[in-house]
Amino acid sequence: MSKKVALITGGAGFLGSHLCELFISRGHRVICLDNLLTGSKENIAHLDKKSLEFIKHDITKPLKLAGKIDYVLHFASPASPVDYARHPIKTAKVGSLGTHNALGITRAKKARFIMASTSEIYGDPQVHPQVEEYWGNVNSIGPRSMYDEAKRFSEALTMAYHRTHKMDTKIVRIFNTYGERMQIQDGRVVPNFIYQALKGRDITVYGEGKQTRSFCYVSDLIEGIYRLLMSDYNLPVNIGNPAENTILEFAKIIIKMTGTKSKIVYKPIPVDDPKQRCPDITKAGKLFGWEPKVNLEEGITRTIKYFKTKVK
Ligand code: UDP
Repeated sequence: MSKKVALITGGAGFLGSHLCELFISRGHRVICLDNLLTGSKENIAHLDKKSLEFIKHDITKPLKLAGKIDYVLHFASPASPVDYARHPIKTAKVGSLGTHNALGITRAKKARFIMASTSEIYGDPQVHPQVEEYWGNVNSIGPRSMYDEAKRFSEALTMAYHRTHKMDTKIVRIFNTYGERMQIQDGRVVPNFIYQALKGRDITVYGEGKQTRSFCYVSDLIEGIYRLLMSDYNLPVNIGNPAENTILEFAKIIIKMTGTKSKIVYKPIPVDDPKQRCPDITKAGKLFGWEPKVNLEEGITRTIKYFKTKVK
């Protein structure tokens, strides 16, 4: 039997590169599509070139590919608040035109589709922890809106293709994830705090640090995505780690684990920064027996080790 082929948009990004790796390790062939806006070829340099084809392409532009494709994973997008503020129009386009093109390829190839949605679609949530049935509380014109609304539109378009064309589509709502191959300068809290700690610089807590996040190690997330894709479920599923910390607690954890002499300093909280975030993962457990396996201490230890190789 010939190998299954997975097309992964954003395949050279943080999550995309881990997906490329997992699909290859499970015997698939991968076409990695990326315009390298926030991704890097370095992220996929270690992968076996017999199983991986890299195509530099912006998925907001149409694309015709020869040959069969079994799975389309749409993971292209700037994903950190700093990156999407840097590239607001590109972010809005990749979550709209990009999703349209990715769905078009899926339809033409009679493939199975999954899109990377996000906990951001819940906005500043008034339901806690967040269940998939919650519709969210999103500012449609705020500084995070180009990302949040593009992802909400992506979900809507995906469901429209599922209902209209009876396509097998999946939506994964990804909560804060960290691990190897995150960009150290992407502005997110995990790389920021570890970088600051390793350099002995001040740790920048935004606001009073009372806002919460729940951090999932990348290997857990990627396994959850794989299982959802292989399931027969078509509605959105949360994947994330429900262990919740305040950002101030998280800063103290990083200080302790790196043994740094860095001090905590307080900076203004960004506009529309969600006050609390924690996934309800009951659905993923019931549907395909998924739950995270790597706790924060273990995952952060591995991540610090990785960032030590990057920080000069
Ligand atoms: N944050 C912080 N200091 C930093 C970077 C982020 O206190 O140097 C906070 C940010 O305000 C937010 C949380 O950490 O409340 C997570 O931010 P991140 O940018 O990682 O992603 P978000 O979960 O907001 O999408």
